[in-house]
Formats: sequence, C-alpha cells, structure tokens
Amino acid sequence: MKIVFFYPNPDKAHQWAAQLKAEGVEFEAIFWQPDQTVSADYAIVWLPPEEFFTSVQDLQAVFNMGAGVDALLNNKYLPADLPVVRLDDAEMGLKMTEYVVHAIAQITRRLDQYTALQQQKVWSGTADYPYFEKWPVGIMGFGRVGQQIADVVHALGYPVHTWSRTAKTAEGITCHHGQTGLKEFLRSTKILINVLPLTPDTTNILNAENLAQLQPGSSLINIGRGHHVVDNDLLQALDSQHMAGAILDVFRTEPLPSEHPFWSHPAIRITPHISGPTHAAKAIQQIAQRIHAQQAGLPLEGVIDRQTGY
Ligand code: NDP
Repeated sequence: MKIVFFYPNPDKAHQWAAQLKAEGVEFEAIFWQPDQTVSADYAIVWLPPEEFFTSVQDLQAVFNMGAGVDALLNNKYLPADLPVVRLDDAEMGLKMTEYVVHAIAQITRRLDQYTALQQQKVWSGTADYPYFEKWPVGIMGFGRVGQQIADVVHALGYPVHTWSRTAKTAEGITCHHGQTGLKEFLRSTKILINVLPLTPDTTNILNAENLAQLQPGSSLINIGRGHHVVDNDLLQALDSQHMAGAILDVFRTEPLPSEHPFWSHPAIRITPHISGPTHAAKAIQQIAQRIHAQQAGLPLEGVIDRQTGY
C-alpha cells in the first residue's frame, strides 16, 4: 500500500508517517513534492496546494487532518467522486470546550477589566452576582464539537440553546433547527458560540440581519470559520453597542492582516486559530483504524457528504 502525505511543514508529515507505521499500518510513504506525479492508495493531508490532486493518481480516499473540510472542498482539482474523510473529534472538542468556557468567563465575569486594573495596581471588584440565567448561551452547530460544548455549559448552569440543520433533542437544552428556527434561536441568545462548518449555506451567516436578532449587549465567540462572519457587520453591531464584544479565533484571512480593524477594536479579543488544535497521535490512530477497517472490507467511516459540504 502507498500513502502520500502533505503538510505545509514537511517535518510534521514525516512524524505522521512514523506514527501511522507505529499503529501497524504497512505502507510505502510518499512525501508530496511539486512537479511529481505519483500513484497512491490514500492521501493524508492538511491544506494541500491546488495542484496536489492533479499529480496524485489512483487514490481510494483522502484523509483530512482536521474536522473542517472547507479548504479541501474548495480545491478545484479535488475529484468529485473521491471520498473525503474528516477527523471525528480526536480530542479537539474537549480543547474547544475549554476555550469556550474561558471565553464565557471572560465575558460574564469581566476578566478583561481586572487585567487592565492590575496594570494600574487597582483593587476594585464588583459585588454583583453573575446569575447564569442572565447569560443564555446559543451554540450554532450541534455536531461533535457543539454537543460537547453544550453539555459542559449546561452543566455549569447556563441556559443553553442550540441550532442545527436537522431537528435534535437533548435533555435540559433547547434545540432549534433550520431557517425557520434561526430567528428564535438568535433572539434567545446573549452569548453566541459559532461552531458551524463552513458550507455554501453557512457562509456569511453572521451578518447584520442575523446579528440584529441577538439580545442587546450580546457577545460572539467564533471558533467556526472566519467566512461565517461579515466583518463590517460585526464591527457595526459593536460600534452601535447592540453587541458588547467578540472573541474571535478564526478569520476570513489568516494570519489576520496587520491593517485589519479587528486588531485594534476595544471590544474584540483575538486568538490565532488555536482553539481546536489537532492531537496528531489521536488523529493518526483514528486514521489507522479506518484504513485497517477498509482493508478488512468494512465501509470507510467519517466520509463527508459532498452535497451538504460537511
Ligand atoms: P459536525 O459535522 O459534527 O457538526 C456540524 C453541525 O453544524 C451539525 O449540528 C450540523 O447540523 C450543523 N450545520 C451544518 N450546516 C448547517 C446549516 N446549514 N444550518 C444549521 N446547522 C448546520 O462538525 P464538528 O462539530 O466536528 O465541527 C464543526 C466545525 O468546527 C468544523 O467544520 C470547523 O469549521 C470548526 N473547527 C474549528 C476549529 C478551530 O480550531 N477553530 C477546530 C475544529 C473544528 P446537523 O446536526 O443537523 O447535521
């Protein structure tokens, strides 16, 4: 069996190959180079260049080293019938939940204020109790990651609303779905967490019309993708003080260009796409299990639906 690897940093691709061998998969490793035509059974990639798929032949499947497949699906040379396999969690959901809980505390407990006060050596706190019920949390995307976030945020005591494409139920959580459920979901939300996949249906979903439905003084935590947000609409919602703040991990252009107004906006906090790091060993373990299963004649798990785009 031959497996072709691509990662922008070639050292990492070599590490993946070694980890896959340690998982008992027997294969010849190929490390993709431009201007080289190769034949391989599987590809394991993150952000391959467009020409990758013009030069690799005979693939049975491509494994994406992440949960979000939007970049891969945008590759114009990706064969229409090639199964694209995503990572199912691989501990990302837990890390993203940790990020979200910190971000929620930053908003509801005003932790930023204390950082500023410390710089002035000022001891000044508020005695106001941050009642959970004042901060209903809305989670857009109730999949592998959204469900873990919802469970933990619900366990903390916050009212939790979720929004998905298809109908869902979960104990103690108010589930909304589809276009018809969107308005009510947004109107129920004071802290909006976006963890949707980027698809043609979800691109620009955080626009002026939808942000206007949020409760006054609401905040956004975006850990989905940058193209979910219409940047100017978010800035306007913040400047008009309809919204109080935004904690953003993902951006339309990454790295975020130095001239982008998000950098210096007082109500925006930025992290450089670190909320859901890939646990390489767990990811490779998952890929190894899937290759073993397929080689044993079982169906390949984790294949995304090319129609819905996730
Ligand atoms: P899943 O595929 O498990 O879940 C996706 C959820 O979004 C589902 O609940 C789905 O609805 C819902 N959804 C999809 N399309 C629509 C739509 N048009 N309208 C309403 N709901 C919709 O994905 P994951 O939870 O694993 O990951 C979600 C995303 O998180 C990834 O695609 C990626 O973009 C992002 N991510 C970001 C990371 C980071 O570091 N910032 C790291 C990892 C992931 P339904 O349940 O009905 O299918």
